[in-house]
Amino acid sequence: MDAFSVQRGNTSTRLSPSTRLTILLLHLNHPKSPRVVAVAKRKRNKKTLSTSKPHSCSFKLQALQVGADINEGLVSSGYEDIVWPSPSDEIPFWKRDFSSWDISSDVPVNVQKDSNLMHLVHVTAEMAPIAKVGGLGDVVTGLARACLSRGHKVDIMLPFYECIQKQQINELALITTYNSYHDGNWVPTNAYRGMVSGIPVIFIEPSSHFFKGQYVYGGSYNELEAYLFFSRACLEWMQVTGTQPDIIHVHEWQTGALPMLYWDMYHQLSLQKPRIVLTIHNMEHYGECSKEQLSKCGLDGSIYATVDKSLDDRTIGHNPERLSLLKGGIVYSNTIVTVSPTYLKETLCSGWLSSTLIRNRDKYCGILNGIDTAMWNPATDVFLPARFHAQKTEGKKICKYFVQRGLGLPSGGITAGNHAPLVVCITRLVAQKGLHLITHAIKHVEELGGQMIVLGKASDGRVEREFEGLANLHNEGPSIRILLMYSEELSHMLYAAADMVLVPSIYEPCGLAQMIGMRYGAVPVVRKTGGLADTVFDIDDLSQPEIANGFVFEGIDEGSLNCALDRSFSYYQEKPNEWNGIVRKVMEIDNSWNNTAGKYIDVYKSIRVRW
Ligand code: ADP
Repeated sequence: MDAFSVQRGNTSTRLSPSTRLTILLLHLNHPKSPRVVAVAKRKRNKKTLSTSKPHSCSFKLQALQVGADINEGLVSSGYEDIVWPSPSDEIPFWKRDFSSWDISSDVPVNVQKDSNLMHLVHVTAEMAPIAKVGGLGDVVTGLARACLSRGHKVDIMLPFYECIQKQQINELALITTYNSYHDGNWVPTNAYRGMVSGIPVIFIEPSSHFFKGQYVYGGSYNELEAYLFFSRACLEWMQVTGTQPDIIHVHEWQTGALPMLYWDMYHQLSLQKPRIVLTIHNMEHYGECSKEQLSKCGLDGSIYATVDKSLDDRTIGHNPERLSLLKGGIVYSNTIVTVSPTYLKETLCSGWLSSTLIRNRDKYCGILNGIDTAMWNPATDVFLPARFHAQKTEGKKICKYFVQRGLGLPSGGITAGNHAPLVVCITRLVAQKGLHLITHAIKHVEELGGQMIVLGKASDGRVEREFEGLANLHNEGPSIRILLMYSEELSHMLYAAADMVLVPSIYEPCGLAQMIGMRYGAVPVVRKTGGLADTVFDIDDLSQPEIANGFVFEGIDEGSLNCALDRSFSYYQEKPNEWNGIVRKVMEIDNSWNNTAGKYIDVYKSIRVRW
């Protein structure tokens, strides 16, 4: 009889290799084991553990007992170092220290370089990850990176929000001190240059109170006036520094005044070369503005109060009439892009801006957004407890188990028995996102025996209270977690943990959540609208099996959503092989900017002027 045999009555039995491994590790994890002492010392040195409660050992044991066979794989794959989280950790698992998130080294090197290289400058209110609220930030960073890797010179101009964490900026340096006009005064302004995840950024910092506060939006200053100032300050900076890019690419209403300022003011001064592209990410926000407010940036507001310029057509005859910065941007830009072909069609058919878009149809096009595959890469993602990719998906099971443990959701373990499908919904909690469908999904997923995690941030107090009520009702229970906050780190972990990603939007210009979810192996369940209709195709639609990749519903009623969720659950539970095939397929879909940035390059080339 050796160390791996046990005595049962008169006979001795030799233990199976997996049971021996469990015993060995149980022994190694015994508090007196020298290895445990060494590991504990090593880990105590990491800030992540210093204030955490010591749950890691017991979680590790539980995991081992559930799936010993896979754990042999885990041990040899290096997963044994995972510090399993618990809901009672003092530092929640998504707030631990992660290795630095500098993805500049992940920029694809094998991308073919373009000929006829251009200088492109994005002027934007958001940029991921340092000033991101939603998809706008992702899009600007992803498109900029893709154009950089094709050889173009790219800069992003961003307000220097007080809330930006400066440690995320490399090589930050003051480059220009100048004055920019606002409301009768010349405001001393600083321009800084820095690198953010490999992309050059110029930060505009006025000496006024603009852009102060804890968040990107919602500070205690007049947002409209702040972005009017910013739009002019970017052009002013170009003028004082003699910077003449080929393209100034503006985004959303916040920078809608820039095309007007450019053509009616700065082009009359020294800026001759640039041409202007406006991308509209969401028509709902149109930059409502009075004539007097527009005048604060130095334009004569009354000149723009006409139907063919920036007058909001719905206010004709009202006292006072209103302007729209987005409409002005549409009229004055050389090209207008929106973020998916289906949203292009939808916006030409409905909404008050449709008549303006129809009038400008020859310069209006739809280009589907991509995702930044350097930033969203499950094979290298620093926020994940285990990495994975389409050919090696074990790490995804670890991520699911990790998140379940961390949020106190029951789990059958890493492999065997972890049969509850996990649905995630990561979204701004606004009406556009289908709030009643999200709340209904919470109920229905529970009825179906699944688990659901909502990560959402509400800007409206009433919505926040409604979801707080739901969180209070469910968060102690066995299947639902509602987390009302913004967390980039947690969002990465949830996409990785999820079996399904739910996007039940009432309208959705493009939507990134379904594309990111797919890259992380979460099968999309979406409403057929806008960019969701361009990226998710129903599995049961036999007319196009080669592109089928998710579950789609059309109605905005609960029954339509039920039907899609029921179908996805039945695939997951009753056809595991097919399900695994779908998971692999969605991970392999190329929704990257590398694939789609070429369409923007074609737009830029079509309007640039040779100098
Ligand atoms: P939108 O731009 O309308 O907000 P998109 O789907 O285009 O919607 O992009 C949303 C982006 O914001 C995605 O990267 C998503 O992961 C992220 N996001 C949304 N809500 C949250 C949240 N509460 N915490 C972290 N990330 C979030």
